[in-house]
Amino acid sequence: MAGRPAAPINITPVVLPLAQLARIDVTPRELYAVMPDKREWLQWLAQHRLIRNNVDCGTCRRPMALVTRAECNDGYSWRCRQCNTRCSVRTGSFFANCDLTTDKIVIIMYYWLHEVKCKHVMLFESLCSWDTIVNYNNYFRMECCEWLLTTNQLLGGFDANGQFVVVEVDESYFFHRKYHRGRRRTGKWVVGLVERASG
Ligand SMILES: [Zn+2]
Repeated sequence: MAGRPAAPINITPVVLPLAQLARIDVTPRELYAVMPDKREWLQWLAQHRLIRNNVDCGTCRRPMALVTRAECNDGYSWRCRQCNTRCSVRTGSFFANCDLTTDKIVIIMYYWLHEVKCKHVMLFESLCSWDTIVNYNNYFRMECCEWLLTTNQLLGGFDANGQFVVVEVDESYFFHRKYHRGRRRTGKWVVGLVERASG
């Protein structure tokens, strides 16, 4: 007699290559179509590398199984068949320490990327409090800063046609004066560079 099929060790059979993800353009319509089904939504997140597609048990070093878990927001969790340890599908991801559901976070992220104001996000989505949206926007900004600080990026040089790539540079001096009065305190020079063609 055939038993129950074994729980999968991968969320999705296909994880999109980084080069493809860099060019991808997601629409809210696409997101809203996938979000209602928790399994489909997890697959979308794993395909887009927003959560891990598979996880090894920290004790047994064996692949954990994806199992349903009604009591958690994500609807699924990882479970080790050997030692029965469980861990969240958010393990090792951007969402690991977040309270909101992953679909709400992705929607807030989408609006942040498209520079939609907090009050409009609240209006469109009846999502959550102003403070929550501002806190998530700060989190996205910090992640981007972290990425910029840890990823070396070459600016300038030559494009595919052998032409110079233009880099604009500007500097500003930042200092603080209480109530715009009193002497200037020691400040900091901040230098910014931007490659217009690539953004
Ligand atoms: Zn284990």
